[in-house]
Amino acid sequence: MTGERRTTCPYCGVGCGVVAARDVAGALTLRGDRAHPANAGRLCSKGSALGETIDLDDRLLAPTVGGTATDWDTALDLVARKLRDTIAAHGPDSVGFYVSGQLLTEDYYVANKLMKGFIGSANIDTNSRLCMASSVAGHRRAFGTDTVPGSYEDLELADLVVLVGSNLAWCHPVLFQRLAAARAARPEMRVVTIDPRRTATSELADLHLALRPGSDVALFNALLVRLYEQGAIDKGYLAHVDGFDEALRAAYADDPDATGLDPADLHDFVDLWTRTERVVTVYSQGVNQSATGTDKVNAILNCHLASGRIGKPGAGPFSVTGQPNAMGGREVGGLANMLACHMELENAAHRSAVREFWDAPAAPSVPGKKAVEMFEAVGRGEIRALWIIHTNPAVSMPDADRVRDAIAGCEFVVVSDITARTDTARLAHVVLPAAAWGEKDGTVTNSERVISRQRTFLKVPGKVRPDWEIIAGVGRRMGWTAAFDYAGPAEIFREYATLSGIAGRFGLDFDISGLAGLSDAEYDALAPVQWPVTTARTGGRFFGDGRFFTATGRGRMLPLRAAAPKAVPDAAYPLLMNTGRVRDHWHTMTRTAKSPRLSAHLAEPYLEVNPADAERLGLAPAAIAEVESAIGRALLRVRITTAVAPGQVFAPMHWTAETASAGRIDALVAAVTDPVSGQPESKATAVRVSPLAVTRYGFLLSRDEPRPGTAYWARARIRGGWQAELAWTETPADLEAELRAICGLPEGAGAIELRDAGRGLHRVLMVDGDEVLAALFTAPEPVALARSWLRSAYAGSTAAGLMAGRPGADRPDPGATVCACFDVGVNTIRAAILDRNLASVAEIGAALQAGTNCGSCRPELQALLDATHPSLAAE
Ligand code: SF4
Repeated sequence: MTGERRTTCPYCGVGCGVVAARDVAGALTLRGDRAHPANAGRLCSKGSALGETIDLDDRLLAPTVGGTATDWDTALDLVARKLRDTIAAHGPDSVGFYVSGQLLTEDYYVANKLMKGFIGSANIDTNSRLCMASSVAGHRRAFGTDTVPGSYEDLELADLVVLVGSNLAWCHPVLFQRLAAARAARPEMRVVTIDPRRTATSELADLHLALRPGSDVALFNALLVRLYEQGAIDKGYLAHVDGFDEALRAAYADDPDATGLDPADLHDFVDLWTRTERVVTVYSQGVNQSATGTDKVNAILNCHLASGRIGKPGAGPFSVTGQPNAMGGREVGGLANMLACHMELENAAHRSAVREFWDAPAAPSVPGKKAVEMFEAVGRGEIRALWIIHTNPAVSMPDADRVRDAIAGCEFVVVSDITARTDTARLAHVVLPAAAWGEKDGTVTNSERVISRQRTFLKVPGKVRPDWEIIAGVGRRMGWTAAFDYAGPAEIFREYATLSGIAGRFGLDFDISGLAGLSDAEYDALAPVQWPVTTARTGGRFFGDGRFFTATGRGRMLPLRAAAPKAVPDAAYPLLMNTGRVRDHWHTMTRTAKSPRLSAHLAEPYLEVNPADAERLGLAPAAIAEVESAIGRALLRVRITTAVAPGQVFAPMHWTAETASAGRIDALVAAVTDPVSGQPESKATAVRVSPLAVTRYGFLLSRDEPRPGTAYWARARIRGGWQAELAWTETPADLEAELRAICGLPEGAGAIELRDAGRGLHRVLMVDGDEVLAALFTAPEPVALARSWLRSAYAGSTAAGLMAGRPGADRPDPGATVCACFDVGVNTIRAAILDRNLASVAEIGAALQAGTNCGSCRPELQALLDATHPSLAAE
């Protein structure tokens, strides 16, 4: 590539535009696209570090069969033959595809066509099932279609934005920045966060409601009652909606005390919502990832339908999706219970239209297995051939150990991915090298229904191929040559857009037939566009006109009651564990872990514990906690914080067997699903927590990748090498030998040791001439070191310089990284706030640059200001 290529960020559902530019010397830069409607040039910390994740380290560059590299014909012939033989012997439902919101729409389309139209099973499901299936189901129950009614600008136009189960600041950072900027421009705007945990997003809120986990239905039922009693029901709009009386009766029967909220706070919230016309309720995983997620979604939708606050500027419910193309997957039929273009599997007319359009031999009439069911069927041996594409279910599925064992026991497993270094790919018989971001070409849809192009700007390395080509190659080898004879993604997109015209003729909303005639050049140049795209209409809001897509054409309110929680802490497992994401990592870290900058923010798996619980359980700050549920165990670093309430703990979901000794948090989470959506509960697991009996803690720096065998370890990349946090339950007799073994160092490497018997410190550095090959700092307590300084000093420092573990008196320790873009640490920020009397995030930015690039750290900067100047926070 020369010059500039516009593309789309591969991480979250905000779907920010990115410009890839090469200068005359060939150097590549990536920056936010000012012309993209989602971000107008902004990028968050993950988007800003994309350039650090596109090298070929750890890339899979050729197909492998049984761990041995081979050519494409051998690999694809084998996959096609195994699928064909399995189907012949055991029927179409004996195969399954488990795909991903990382796929581009064109890839998704081909996979869905192969499974549903030609193999003749609906056993294709996506990891989006874990992300937003409850929103899909809630939308379909209320609207008759899976459609987000509004646009991002509604968050900016609203007078009240309510964020329910959404840590927008960390999980959708650019949308959060847009909200924060709108709030700064219109200080009268109000923001409320509803989350059992206080998060970075709460820093923006006027009111934070730490409701009891799982009690969202009771809260929104209380709001519906308040709307009614205050005369805030929109009777004109209700003429287009069924079910109000039943929904209200159910709401009256519910008990607002189930929320556990202070009645005054609850009153303030429902009062504010009721008297504000322009309200947007944003919700995401905290609502969806629940055994009652669909009811929670509908409880929110009930309030917007009853008040007519939907499909209008600044008013509406707004589900934000986790993955870059979760929306595209929903549209293209990636879920086991949907056909393409919002057409329905159970609808005979839809089925036969799709079958005829594809000239397909089959069209299953019953839904396939949803994610949890699919892996249960694999475990029972009913699914005998499994193709997993761009996802890591051995880590990310609930009951992850059982899922891992099911995959390991499956007769034939294919994995398509960009790397073979995942917990799942290690279990596969065939691993297929798929194109990564920057190497592939297609479209994605973001949370506001905007379709954007991902474009190629990197040379495709080795034998790597795009997913559509891999899947189509298997389809042709299975005998369906004409159906899978695509020249490229533009041809696939045209077919998809044409099919959507059939959906439009059925009166469905997903219709992009206006794009069906794009030439290859027009497809290449396609600017971001919000669907629908027809001759009659492009983009815009839905449902403001009272027109819905149910059989009656009317919206539906549902009678809902708060359900008893499925996971109840008891004497054996007395704490309730919530799970979620960190700011700078993505999913199971196959890409973000490549960036030292991103790993610097939070470099190991951790457990947030309330101080009262920590004291009761004997958990010291930075100790290692052993966390056990009825089905699994994890070892996590203790972070003591009032962000979680007593009786609750929180753990992030990113760490894998590649990155930590026992950080796979979903190994603890039981596979309990919402009965409507099939989405698993990820936010409420009963656990017990105890301190691991650590005899020695360690911090390691190494040139080469460390491979610890210690009781606890977590490794991450740093500039010029690696770091690892270590803990032993039996102190090694010979620390030098231990370091050699962990880092694979040759006998010839020299050792320098430092012992401080008084403080129990023992440090060993291995050197080769002037180069420090590895440095290990150990202590009987969690190792107190200037980690941020050590990380930056490691490459290029002398042994003597490193041995002290902290900078000299003339060089202050910057502390843990807060601003990843400019590498500004917490100590530097605290000192500047005090010494220079900084009073705002903008003043910190002017003084230190922190927060002035991607802005992802601004909530943390505000929290530091509040903590350092408590009087300002109270004003
Ligand atoms: Fe990418 Fe960040 Fe934008 Fe999400 S908010 S799309 S991660 S740049």
